[in-house]
Amino acid sequence: MKMLIGGKWVDREKKIEVTNPYDNSLVDTVPAGSAEDMKAAIAAAVEGFQETKRLSTLERITILAKTAGLMEGKRDELARMISSEGSKTIREARFEVGRAITTMTVSSEEARRIDGETLPFDSRPGSQNRRGYYYRFPIGVIGAITPFNDPLNLVAHKLGPALASGNSVVLKPATVTPLVALKLGELLLEAGLPSKGLNIVTGYGHEIGDALVTDDRVRMITFTGGPEAGLDIVKKAGLKKIGMELGSNSAVIVMDDADLERAVPACVDGAFGCAGQNCIGVQRLFVHAKIFSEFKDEFVTKTKKLVVGPQRDEKTDVGPMITEGEAERIEAWVQEAISQGAKVLTGGMRRGSVYQPTILADAPLTAKVVAEEVFAPTVALFEFRDLASVIEIINSSKYGLHAGIFTQDINNAFQAIEDIDVGGIMVNDTSDYRIDQMPFGGVKLSGLGREGIKFAIYEMTEPKVVCFNL
Ligand code: NAP
Repeated sequence: MKMLIGGKWVDREKKIEVTNPYDNSLVDTVPAGSAEDMKAAIAAAVEGFQETKRLSTLERITILAKTAGLMEGKRDELARMISSEGSKTIREARFEVGRAITTMTVSSEEARRIDGETLPFDSRPGSQNRRGYYYRFPIGVIGAITPFNDPLNLVAHKLGPALASGNSVVLKPATVTPLVALKLGELLLEAGLPSKGLNIVTGYGHEIGDALVTDDRVRMITFTGGPEAGLDIVKKAGLKKIGMELGSNSAVIVMDDADLERAVPACVDGAFGCAGQNCIGVQRLFVHAKIFSEFKDEFVTKTKKLVVGPQRDEKTDVGPMITEGEAERIEAWVQEAISQGAKVLTGGMRRGSVYQPTILADAPLTAKVVAEEVFAPTVALFEFRDLASVIEIINSSKYGLHAGIFTQDINNAFQAIEDIDVGGIMVNDTSDYRIDQMPFGGVKLSGLGREGIKFAIYEMTEPKVVCFNL
């Protein structure tokens, strides 16, 4: 596929090969964009903004609703793209396509609700003749940088709100999964988006990222990815708005009164869905001592039944990791934990880019598999007795995105809600639950600001005050 700059599909001699992470087969190529390409895309987006900011609310609603309709007609194609360039199974990919359609649909709905309010200028002495209001206006060119793990829906979470509120965008998708993002760009143009309103530059973040992040013409960087790149971007961005959706090592608590028939399968899904490559996936699992043994047996039994294999096979539950390098990384982290006393209850094996779903017990809290974000099909299981102490351990993390607690006792639930430092807490669910229109984001190293369409629109607009002196 080609990249999209200034309304044209642009190719370059230097290419990036997009491969299937399961068997390394070639899926397609994209141009390896340069810093000059990025500059050209920003210049086009500056021009594009002159058009996008003048689109009426009705036009913005129509373009986004039409895009959602076009996506609806291409559900299968989009899902196949996700499960070829990425590591999601075909069933997970179909689910993502459904969510991305919702994200674009809700973006079109939220465009209708961007409003302001009248202001009581006549409340100040001497101001009795003044009347006025504020409304929210788009901020300009938005630079969007996205990760590999939800290659369509996380792009939709940037483009939908940005375009709903009249901004123009330069998007840099993850290098390993650029294809479905380019496809979404194609559909937006087909739906009537002004051609310079969206520019998509493919290329390596470390080569072309700075050109986007440091450019003063870009008014906001909205980034989803790992903390390393996120912190680098924050340091370089200068005076512009920043949205950071970063990682976590999410915790789930299972109390002694929990309904295990709900808790066990939810924890299996939460830990191993998308091969654990999920920012709210279950990584630290704290189970009350009274039910620990029963939970552990059920959890291990269910995990062993997961079918691991090629993503495109309908029977596969757990696909590969995004690269063999990533699988080697988690293999080394598990080895480190074992050398520090952790026991492998199941898994712990790697074949190429496939890492077997792995449950560890007795891992030290300082081991990488506990303290860092694993972003792999690996979960650490702990036994506990006292809720307050577990909450303290959970909060000792440098991250704080989501947490979950399984309990029938409202007091336990409220203790967790009030005391765990996270952006979202799920009661009788794992950390791995969200809908696309809720405020989504984290505290501490998990991020800055919130996404979730309405909330992203808020970040991507600014109030302008109008006052009439009558
Ligand atoms: P990543 O390595 O940080 O990459 C994310 C994006 O940033 C890619 O497009 C990457 O480009 C680009 N990039 C890398 N270095 C850059 C730089 N110096 N300047 C500008 N851009 C740069 O993350 P990933 O491995 O794709 O995704 C996994 C991470 O994303 C995990 O930490 C996960 O928790 C997080 N995540 C968070 C959320 C959330 O909503 N909180 C959701 C999903 C994922 P290249 O691909 O070219 O390197």
